[in-house]
Amino acid sequence: MTKSIYLDYSATTPVKKEVLDAMIPYFTELYGNPSSLYTIGQESKNAIAAAREQVAALIGAQPAEVYFTSSGTEADNWAVIEGAMWKRKQGRHVITTQIEHHALLHSGAYLEKEGFEVTYLPVDPDGFVRVADLKAALRPETTVVSIMFANNEIGTIEPIAELVQAVREAQEGFGTKILFHTDAVQALGNVHIDVKALGVDMLSISGHKIYGPKGIGALYIRKGVNLPEHMHGGGQEAKRRAGTENLTGIVGFGKAAELSRENLETHIEQLTKLRNYFIDRVREKIADIRINGSLESRLPGNANITFKYIEGEAILLLLDMKGIAVSTGSACSSASLTPSHVLTAIGVPVEEIHGSIRFTVGDFTTKEDLDYVVEALIEVVAKLRNISSVSAESGF
Ligand SMILES: *Cc1c(COP(=O)(O)O)cnc(C)c1O
Repeated sequence: MTKSIYLDYSATTPVKKEVLDAMIPYFTELYGNPSSLYTIGQESKNAIAAAREQVAALIGAQPAEVYFTSSGTEADNWAVIEGAMWKRKQGRHVITTQIEHHALLHSGAYLEKEGFEVTYLPVDPDGFVRVADLKAALRPETTVVSIMFANNEIGTIEPIAELVQAVREAQEGFGTKILFHTDAVQALGNVHIDVKALGVDMLSISGHKIYGPKGIGALYIRKGVNLPEHMHGGGQEAKRRAGTENLTGIVGFGKAAELSRENLETHIEQLTKLRNYFIDRVREKIADIRINGSLESRLPGNANITFKYIEGEAILLLLDMKGIAVSTGSACSSASLTPSHVLTAIGVPVEEIHGSIRFTVGDFTTKEDLDYVVEALIEVVAKLRNISSVSAESGF
C-alpha cells in the first residue's frame, strides 16, 4: 500500500468528522434561507447565530463583532482596502510588512495603484517586525496599519500587543485615529487570541486552516469601528457584507472553532512536541541544513528547513513519489519561480531559498509519520546532493 503523509497543514486542513456531521443537515433538511421568516428560515438564522458565538468565543470577541466572509483573503481585502478608502481624507498612508500573505501584499499593491502610499516594514533575521521600525514609519497621514499575527511560511509569531501599543501612542501624539488590522489566519487555533487584550480594530480568520471547510472566513471588527460595507445587496451580516450566507460553511466554521477552543492547550502541546522531534531528528541525521524563523515565538506546527546545495522543488517531487506532501515556501507562490518574499525578507541567500521546504504538522500527524519522513528525507537529500556535486564537477 502506498503511504500518504500530509505535512502541509498550513496550506489547508482536512475537515474533522464532527465538523462534517454538524454541517450535513444544513445541506439537505435545514436548507432554509436565513432571511426567510418561516420556520426553516429561522432555524438557519439560529444556526448562524450559534456559529457566530462559537467563532467569537475563540478570539474573545462579542458575537456582533464577527462578520462572516468567503475567506481569509476577503477579510484581509475588506479590512485594508475599505479601511484606507474610508479614512482617505485623513491621509493616504498605509503601513504593512514585507512578509505578509499575498492577500495583504496584493491589496497594498492595489492601493498604491489607486494613489495611496504603502510602507512595507522590514523584519529581523527571525522574522520579527521591530517596534522601532513601526514607530519611525508612523505619520499623521497614516490611516491603516496591518501586521500579520503569525507568518504562514516561517511560523514567526509577531508581538501584536506591543505593536498596537506603539500605534496608539503615536496616534495620540498626532491627534488622529489609526486602524490596526492583523491577519490572524495562521494564528487561529494555534495561539491564544484575545482581541480585547490585543487592542486590535480588525482581525482576519479563516475556516479551512482550523479543520473547518474551505470558502468561509470572518473579519472581526471592533464595536465602534464603522468600517464601510464592501458588498452591496441584502441586509445580511448587519448590512455590512451582503449575499445569502454560506450556511453550511458557517456552521462548519463554528463547530471547528468550538473544537479548537476546547482542545487548544493539548493541540499546542502535541504539535510543538512533534515539530521539535522532527527538527531534532533532521538536525541529527542531515548535514548542512538551517531552520528558518524564530525558535522561541513560533507556530507550534511549523518547521521551515533549508537543505543547502539542492532544489526544494526536487525534494518536494521526490517526497511526493513517496506519498509525502510538503510545501516549498507558500502554496500560493508554488506556481512561480520567484524566490519566497518571506525568506528574502529574513535574509536567506537566494540559492538557499530555493532549497527550502516548509513542513507543517497537524492534529492527525503521528510520530511514526515523522520517522518515515525523516528516513525518506535522508535518502532524497543524499541522492540530490550526489547529483548536484556530480554536475558541479562536470561543469553543468
Ligand atoms: C491561508 C491564509 C490566508 C488566506 O485565507 P483563505 O481563506 O485561504 O483565503 C491569508 N493569510 C494567511 C496568513 C494565510 O495563511
